[in-house]
Amino acid sequence: MSIYTCPHCGEKTFNPLTKALAGQMNSKGKACPKCGTRCVNGEGATIFNAMYCLAAFILVVITYLKAPYYEVFIVAGLLLSMVIVPRLVNAFCFKMKESIRIEI
Ligand SMILES: [Zn+2]
Repeated sequence: MSIYTCPHCGEKTFNPLTKALAGQMNSKGKACPKCGTRCVNGEGATIFNAMYCLAAFILVVITYLKAPYYEVFIVAGLLLSMVIVPRLVNAFCFKMKESIRIEI
């Protein structure tokens, strides 16, 4: 089964871009164009995202404490990577999952 397969109807309705935009399990997800089920990136992606953000955050703190004159660029780069890296990983790795978030 492809990682771009909808977990509900089994059709390959996602691509790297839509999968990247679907977000993790805590997000609303993206609706499958075929069956309309909202899908998100599953546990693997969610765990990776949490670990990456934690690691980047620790690096930000270390950079801040050491404070070289170019720290602003490092911190900015790390913060930017916290947004970009998990999306890139979501686009090419991990399986999709039906969104379990309840809409109010
Ligand atoms: Zn579907």
